[in-house]
Amino acid sequence: MKFRRNPKILRGFANSVIGHTGAFAPAIFAATIAVIVVCVATNWRRERSLADERSIVAGEIATISSRLQTNLNSNVKLLQGLAAGVAVNPTMDQTAFSKLAAEILQPDSQLRSFAAAPGMVVKWVYPEKGNEKAIGLDYRKNEKQRDGAMLARNTHNIVLTGPVELVQGGTAFIVRCPVYINDGTSQIFWGLLSGIVDIPRLYQDSGLESTDLEIAISTVPEPNLPKQVFLGSLDTFSKQPVVTFVDMTYGRWTLAAVPKHGWGQNSGIATFELYASLLAFCVVAPIIWVGFLTKSRQKTIEKLRLHKKKLVRARQRLEYLSLHDALTGLPNRRFIDQMISQPTRPGPEDCLILIHIDLDRFKEINDTKGHAGGDTVLQATASRLANLTGPNDVAARIGGDEFIFASWSTDPEPKANALAQQIVDTLEQPLSIDGAECVVGASVGVAWETEPAVRRRDLSQLLLNADLALYEAKKTGRGRAAIFTEELRSATIHSKELADEFNHALDRDELVAFFQPQFNADTLDIVGVETLARWDHPRKGLLTPDKFLDVAERLGRSGDMDRLILQKALFELTRWDSLGMDIPRVSVNISARRLAQPNLLAELSALPLARGRLCFELLETISFDDLQPVLNEIIPAVKELGIEIEIDDFGTGHASIVSLLRFEPRRLKIDREIIKPIVTSPSQRRLVSSIIEIGRSQNIDIVAEGVETMEHAKILKDLGCHLLQGYALARPMTSQQLIEFCRTKSKGLTEAG
Ligand code: C2E
Ligand code: CA
Ligand code: CA
Repeated sequence: MKFRRNPKILRGFANSVIGHTGAFAPAIFAATIAVIVVCVATNWRRERSLADERSIVAGEIATISSRLQTNLNSNVKLLQGLAAGVAVNPTMDQTAFSKLAAEILQPDSQLRSFAAAPGMVVKWVYPEKGNEKAIGLDYRKNEKQRDGAMLARNTHNIVLTGPVELVQGGTAFIVRCPVYINDGTSQIFWGLLSGIVDIPRLYQDSGLESTDLEIAISTVPEPNLPKQVFLGSLDTFSKQPVVTFVDMTYGRWTLAAVPKHGWGQNSGIATFELYASLLAFCVVAPIIWVGFLTKSRQKTIEKLRLHKKKLVRARQRLEYLSLHDALTGLPNRRFIDQMISQPTRPGPEDCLILIHIDLDRFKEINDTKGHAGGDTVLQATASRLANLTGPNDVAARIGGDEFIFASWSTDPEPKANALAQQIVDTLEQPLSIDGAECVVGASVGVAWETEPAVRRRDLSQLLLNADLALYEAKKTGRGRAAIFTEELRSATIHSKELADEFNHALDRDELVAFFQPQFNADTLDIVGVETLARWDHPRKGLLTPDKFLDVAERLGRSGDMDRLILQKALFELTRWDSLGMDIPRVSVNISARRLAQPNLLAELSALPLARGRLCFELLETISFDDLQPVLNEIIPAVKELGIEIEIDDFGTGHASIVSLLRFEPRRLKIDREIIKPIVTSPSQRRLVSSIIEIGRSQNIDIVAEGVETMEHAKILKDLGCHLLQGYALARPMTSQQLIEFCRTKSKGLTEAG
């Protein structure tokens, strides 16, 4: 793979280097200075110590060279002494020579032996022992010794040669001294006197053995010729040695010396460097430490920044969650409240439209399809509403099966109407739950601002207005839209007041039981009375149920009301019995809520009741289908207690006749709306007639209510109806009035009889 320059990577690298060096810049600067200082100081120190070293070496080599010179000179002096002895007695023999040599040779001298060579041929030696081989040596014929010997003879000078290989074995320096004899007139060359200088001893006595220096010695025949090194190695001359000379009249030696381990080894430089570095470290380390602290602080700051970022994100997430519904993802109630408390209008002239939506059959679906089915409904509703939203619209779920649709418009009325209809229509579309098609449907309440610059208070009022309109829509039936009006508001205020008052009415016993007699169609005898609730309102006077039944239902107190009226009815029945009146049966109206009260049966069984004297009128609209499971248990149990069941308002509800008849009611009461037109309408008569026919086939008595004229009474009697109830025969009345009524009736009958 080929490395390609990526500008991004390079930039990143540069940044990171800058980023990393930033904190350490002072440390790097200090370290650089410290290194320079240490280097300069070491260099200076090195030069100084080198100079010191050289001067020590120079001193040492000077001592050695002067000793060498002294030793050689003293050896030469000894030889000269012997030469003087020979010159005085040139004809001596070996014995005399030995004697003379022994006297001259001193024990501390490096001279090992002497040889005397008259006429250049060795004749005498000292000591004789070990040097016998040298006797007879002719210098002129010995190649190795000839040059030196001839030089001494020709120059008349003392000549030092060597190291030379000796005839008698080994190597040595040879000092040659020419001997001349004075014959009175001139100097005649007699021969050569040689002294063998012991090399190891010379070196030892001159201090060459015991020195720490690496020493090389060369002779220098000519300045330009290569050196002839006889001690040490030629290398030494290239090691910047300290050079000194040993000058002798008979020659010159060059001494080169360097320390055995080279220059600068024992100078203490390492120690100095160590201390200097330690010092530099002491200076730099705190700065690096500060760099590290700065770096770690930067890291901490960076971490904090990241942490803060995370916190902000988490807060935003929480904020989002707190303003949205988890199930549908729509904005929630809080969102709408915030929106209403701080409205941001798209345009200054725009008015807010709020549509409050409530699903019609959500509870049913939730009960039958379970929570998963309910969730599907809510999610589908949310997505349908979201599909209707425009750029400035909001669809929100504000609880259970309630939604809000908010929109803006300069001309709100048409837009609100159109939106409401769209919402009703779209939510009326069937949806599939577990493969089954369901229609949920919705009721909507609509309200809008009448002026754009509405104050805050009014906006929250707007939500209440939409709520009121929704309530109205629900009242009028399912799948409808209702629009908020001022009348609606006042009606609501009124009903609210009434609700408060109704609660008090129950507590203060303001409810009164009225009774309307029911007659045998044939004989017109009283066969029973229906108990009807009245509210003796302290200000408004006597109120009929149409004024307060809704309120009682909404407050959830219709069951309480029924219980109260039942007690009153039974109380009056006992009274009538005690007065000897013939009221065979009393009927009471029973609401669905009363039927569903868990302690109903217990209460009823505690009553002192004769069989067939009490009848429950159940509204056909109670929704027998909905309540089926409850009714299946309750109704037979009620009948078991001897209480009769009558289906009220028959012909208005939706319950199928089959489902009604399954309860085997004692009677059916045909609704007054069906009865009313029978005088003029033959078809209505036929309808009544067929209901009567059904009853007869099932052994169920038929009651007609709303018998307003005697003509009604006659027709119904002719059709075969069993019981009649209506203004034509008797109006609802108090118990006292009923007592009077019965008294007059029986009196009339008696008088008539
Ligand atoms: P409902 O059960 O159909 O009661 C009969 C209603 O018809 C009574 O109205 C009565 O005054 C009226 N009525 C009687 N004869 C005639 C007639 O010839 N022509 C006309 N147009 N109406 C006649 P009310 O007393 O206003 O009661 C209205 C409804 O209130 C009742 O209808 C009943 O459903 C309900 N209700 C009355 N009392 C109670 C009660 O104690 N508990 C419950 N749950 N409902 C009650
Ligand atoms: Ca009734
Ligand atoms: Ca009725």
